[in-house]
Amino acid sequence: MKIKKIETLVCHARMRNWVFVKVTTDQPGLIGWGEATLEWHTRSVVGAVQDLAELLIGEDPTRVEHLWQMMYRQHFWHGHGIVRSTAIAGIDIALWDIVGKVANLPCSKLWGGPVRDYVRTYCHLGGGKMEDFYETRADDAKRFGDLARQAVADGFTAFKSMAVPPTMPIEGLKAIRTAEACVAAMRDAVGESIDIMVDCHARPSPAMGLKFGKALEPYGLYFFEEPCWPESIDGLAMINAALVTPVATGERMTHLAAFRDLFAQRGCEVCQLDITHVGGFTEARRIAALAEAHRIALAPHNPQGPVSTAASLEFGFSQPSYIICETVHADVPWRQDVVDEGFTVEKKGRLVRPNTRPGIGITINEKAVKKHPFQQEIPQRVFYPDGSVGDW
Ligand SMILES: [Mg+2]
Repeated sequence: MKIKKIETLVCHARMRNWVFVKVTTDQPGLIGWGEATLEWHTRSVVGAVQDLAELLIGEDPTRVEHLWQMMYRQHFWHGHGIVRSTAIAGIDIALWDIVGKVANLPCSKLWGGPVRDYVRTYCHLGGGKMEDFYETRADDAKRFGDLARQAVADGFTAFKSMAVPPTMPIEGLKAIRTAEACVAAMRDAVGESIDIMVDCHARPSPAMGLKFGKALEPYGLYFFEEPCWPESIDGLAMINAALVTPVATGERMTHLAAFRDLFAQRGCEVCQLDITHVGGFTEARRIAALAEAHRIALAPHNPQGPVSTAASLEFGFSQPSYIICETVHADVPWRQDVVDEGFTVEKKGRLVRPNTRPGIGITINEKAVKKHPFQQEIPQRVFYPDGSVGDW
């Protein structure tokens, strides 16, 4: 069996262009699907997939680890820059999809699963609709409460919010009280049996991240995400040590050695590796094993398209330490038109029952994808009040 073709299909989904990767073999009808979405860098990642395809055409698609080593190590530069690690991921997920189809087994079964009966999911406020999740102002606490109530009405038992405003490296009480008011409004709205997460989007400095974290402790967050830059492992470790609330991070880390350093310093309790950015299942499984040795939980980052979601779920059914799957369902109203999925979602509780189809169990509707060709992503930029650049 040989790889005949590797292509990308770009599908514009407002804030992101979903980059689907299709690997075609020389066996009739045998293809694999992956995803390599990298918002605001779509053209770069499409080019990187083309470059990697040069290495793989004519190779046996079932030698996944060998091909991963080629993609990561060949032609001098290691593949851990975000563009290449994302491109490798798109291809790697598609290769595992092919192996599952060859074996006639869901990928989770290839890896010894399923290890659980269902995977729990959480949503973004507003279901991932850009205006609700990313653009609700942190000083509009009432809106946070209303959106929280809606998430629970939609069946979710956990949701994530961006309740922490952008701040300069040091600021006074106002920002802290603003975040506190949002979280208090959400807790009031949903009570104590629902899990609330706050994503700081790596906006705060370590000092500000600690202040936000301390202020939010009384609200019993399920986890507190990216309280400072991912480059600041000592800052993450300092915050994680100072809080009872578990710190979550990892969505911007692209390879095993980065997670080794993060775990060694105990920079988090929840590892948010992104399967589509860490080189796919092959590297994600290594990171998961390392997390297991540190008894760190897995909650992969997944605000992207439907192949990424199927991949995260498949991974979740094979990993004992996987606690919850991030999902978006209202980023674009036609999301379900582009995909046919092998798993089922129970509306009450938004629990997912395992995929029973081979591979990652999805089919992409290429005609539906063609209705949404590439467009420049909607920009999201932050400047502080004095005009200096902040983190989005
Ligand atoms: Mg995040």
